[in-house]
Amino acid sequence: MSFTLHGISVSSGIAIGHAHLVSHTSLEVAHYILPKHFVDEEMARFDAALEATRKEFSSLRSNRPAHAVAEFDAFLELHQMIMDDPLLSVAPRDMIAKEHCNAEWALKVQTETLVAQFNEFEDAYLRERQTDVKQVAERLLKRLAGHPGHQPSTARHDVETILVAHDLSPADLIQFKPQQYAAFITDVGGATSHTAIVARSLNTPCVVGLHHARELVREDDMLILDGEQGVLIVNPDKTILAEYKLRQSEWELERKKLKRLRTARANTLDGSLIELHANIEKPEDITEARENGATGIGLFRSEFLFLNRDTLPGEEEQFEAYRAAASGMDGQPVVIRTFDLGADKQIKGMERVANNPALGLRAIRYCLAEPQLFRAQLRALLRATHYGNIKILIPMLSSVSELNQTLQFVAATKQSLSSEGIPYNNEVKIGGMIEIPAAALAIEVFAKKLDFLSIGTNDLIQYTLAIDRTDEEVAHLYDPLHPAVLHLLSHVISISNKFDVPVSVCGEMAGELAYTRLLLGLGLRQFSMFSAQVPSIKQRVLTTSLPEIAALTQKILRADDPLKIRDLLGRLNA
Ligand code: PEP
Ligand code: MG
Repeated sequence: MSFTLHGISVSSGIAIGHAHLVSHTSLEVAHYILPKHFVDEEMARFDAALEATRKEFSSLRSNRPAHAVAEFDAFLELHQMIMDDPLLSVAPRDMIAKEHCNAEWALKVQTETLVAQFNEFEDAYLRERQTDVKQVAERLLKRLAGHPGHQPSTARHDVETILVAHDLSPADLIQFKPQQYAAFITDVGGATSHTAIVARSLNTPCVVGLHHARELVREDDMLILDGEQGVLIVNPDKTILAEYKLRQSEWELERKKLKRLRTARANTLDGSLIELHANIEKPEDITEARENGATGIGLFRSEFLFLNRDTLPGEEEQFEAYRAAASGMDGQPVVIRTFDLGADKQIKGMERVANNPALGLRAIRYCLAEPQLFRAQLRALLRATHYGNIKILIPMLSSVSELNQTLQFVAATKQSLSSEGIPYNNEVKIGGMIEIPAAALAIEVFAKKLDFLSIGTNDLIQYTLAIDRTDEEVAHLYDPLHPAVLHLLSHVISISNKFDVPVSVCGEMAGELAYTRLLLGLGLRQFSMFSAQVPSIKQRVLTTSLPEIAALTQKILRADDPLKIRDLLGRLNA
């Protein structure tokens, strides 16, 4: 049966391929139905995984490291208890018998049911035990992965595959290689979530907030995903398929044409040079940034080096990564943000269930709370400044005392490097991200103390409008054109310009064509965005005259009616 679903478009492009269903984030597993004669074997496989995990627990207990804290035993006992509870050790088995599904799927479904029940607890301690349930399930899944069962023979490598999930975390997504999947689809998520950001940087079409896609789509269904319109067509008929194949090749042709602008300077019609930089997650992303003509890296989200691993990267590994990025850009600026962990980017094993993770211990707050980690990163960053044009960016500043504390950390790190005779650039520029309304309103003090500023519109909008950027239920309220947002942007840009402090926008707004002229009109001269978008924004800059957009931009700033603002923006972009 053919049907269409609508969601939130987060990464453009058209993908045509077969569905591959996966489950929730870290419990990401395939779902398939087994032939009847394999069901007993599958139950035995599940039992074997339980038994092997039991042995693993007992070996962990007997080889308990001497320095392990007393809670270690209690922790192991708790995990063993959770695993042996019939809800996790028997219920999945029954499901395999009844539904003939694979063991991983049965385990995942049962785990999600349990996690949902834990979520209902009022007691915060009990609620947090859902993390233990997930960890036990992951342990079992790893065992099952070591002994794969009978995979469906339809596992195909010859056709494009579209990943369909209820949810995908940024950590899940960053593991995929570019072009490994033709597209990503999720039931939940917002347009400026980090999952969306990674999809864009992988240059892969993605639509989120499709609500029930994972339930409605079946493994191997034929799908068309229109990343521009946020539309998913399931099992299309031949005419629709032909129509989209045509659109797909037109879209690709258009991208190719735009790439020809790679070496052109981004000058406005009246001759102002606009800096178009790229946002990256890993040093390898430099290649794509350069291919698309970015003249610098405006945001290296260094926290992605910390995800999907059991041990954190130490000073040496980070130093190599930062040095690689700097030398890859050949003297062009590389702005590296100190790690913005927390909220939707959690380090393995440290997942906390905070009541309001976006308002909790994340970004610079987390750095300052973990001085050892922060010091190691600052050492790596400062050392790398000796090898290229690196600038350091501090995320999520809200108060001057936070900034002062950070600057003291930098000064102390410089001092210890000097005393060890390790070279670094003493003149390295330190910048701050303006992404909390308090910082935007108090911008003068930040402008006075910092060398440059970068506006993180994703968070600035989230915090100004109190809209969770990862929640599709409120995604329609996430409005970059809200007068409050425009006034904050205008204020930050004009004060920075007045103080002669370079300012850029590195949030997703910088990569949206609809806002390029508006931001230029507000006085912005530096933009940083996902690499693939640089050519389109350059084309818009090349066809813009700053004197011509000045009056309309001011009118937009003075307007307070949303329809009027959109109408004026339409005229600005005409
Ligand atoms: C932002 O908030 O706009 C930003 C660029 O940072 P991130 O998206 O990583 O939170
Ligand atoms: Mg941010």
